[in-house]
Order: sequence, then structure tokens, then C-alpha cells
Amino acid sequence: MAKTLSEAIGYTLGKKAAQAKNVFDLVGGTEEESLRAEIRLGRDLAAALLERVPLIEENEATRFAAQIGRWLAGHVKEKKLPFVVRVTAEREPNALALPGGPVFVSWPLLELCQWQRDEIAFVLGHEMAHIVRQHTLNRIVKDAALSLLLSQSSGKNAASAWLSKAGRQLLGRAFSREDELEADVFAVALVGTAGGDASAGERLLEKLAQGFGQSVCIAGEYLATHPPLIERVANLRARRQG
Ligand SMILES: [Zn+2]
Repeated sequence: MAKTLSEAIGYTLGKKAAQAKNVFDLVGGTEEESLRAEIRLGRDLAAALLERVPLIEENEATRFAAQIGRWLAGHVKEKKLPFVVRVTAEREPNALALPGGPVFVSWPLLELCQWQRDEIAFVLGHEMAHIVRQHTLNRIVKDAALSLLLSQSSGKNAASAWLSKAGRQLLGRAFSREDELEADVFAVALVGTAGGDASAGERLLEKLAQGFGQSVCIAGEYLATHPPLIERVANLRARRQG
């Protein structure tokens, strides 16, 4: 089947991205330069996302969530990433991480945590893991549609165009089972290192597995697309028991 020129260009870029071992390969330059590129991409995507997803107006609860984010960020040892936690007004439990630091968590997911600091910390730590381990970045960079848009317009316009089409769906999907379970383990360790209750994550997942919150609309994609809650609990328990 004949391809249009832009499809062909997109295919080439997508292929190049798919062949890159990681984003450093693709962006080139020093580690510091690629970190800057990662942060810029995340900021462009966050700005584009904010045009589409409303935030909860700042209040004591949103400040509490942001403060938990800063507390955890102070204990992430891998590299200096500008983590920022924002609370969205989505109706379903949801959380999302963008490259370089932005984390979005929905109000209903915070409610499922019953505003327990360390349960919220586990949820945020899980998203931070996707950033630190570059799960989000690698997925985005390998997306041919975004590569094409970035080659045609500024980062911000490309991010916006992408999010209005394929991007939103891509960002909403869970990562591989391995990445998700790894993010849970990272989160538990981070909460523990920060001086919080490391068992809070297991407790939260167990509570959700037992059906807590079904009355408050749990049937969201966020939980449905992650590995089964039972498996996540078993994974954390196995790690804990060594
Ligand atoms: Zn995840």
C-alpha cells in the first residue's frame, strides 16, 4: 500500500526510535543534555495535558498531596528531577507520570487512600518510579506519531497535537507487568527510606483488592489496566519476606 510522504517520514523516525536502546541514544549529547531534553519534553506534555484535564483548585488537600510529593522527592537518590504533583478533577481514580517530573493524581484516587499520608506516598512513589526508571520516556520516545510531530513543529505544539490524538490513550495505558511490579517495589522502598510506613502500599492494594471503594466508582481504567491487585500484593509480600 502506498504511503504518503509524511507517513513515510514518521515510519523512519519511529523505526529509528524503536532501534535506540534508550533515550540517550536517540537524543545524543551528554547525560546532562538528555536530562534537560527529558525535562523539557515532560513540561511541554504537562502544559498540553493541562489544556485538557482540569485541576482541583488549590486547597488544603491538594497542598497536602504536593507536600507528600516534595517529601518523597527529597529521598529519590537517582538524579535530580523536578517532581511536581498536581491533583486533577477527573471523576475516576487515576494517576499519570510524565518524563522529567510531572505527576498527576486524581481526587478520587486520593479518596481511596483515605487521605492517609503513606498510602498517598505509595501511589505517588509508584508514579515517580515510572519517571526515574524512564518507563514513560522510553514509551513516548518510541511513539512514531510524536516523533513525527516533534520534527514538524515546536515541542509545545507537537505535544498538544499528539495529546489530542494518540497520546492520551498511550499515556493512559499501564506499562508492562514487570515495569508495574518494579514501580510498586520502588515505591515501597522510597516510602521506607523517607521515614514513612513501608507497609502502607501493601495495605492500600489489599484494601482495594477486597473491594473497598467500589461504591465510589472503582471501575476505572487506572486499576483495571494495571496487573491484578492480588498479584501486586503477592509481589510486595514476597519481597518483604525475602
Ligand atoms: Zn504504573
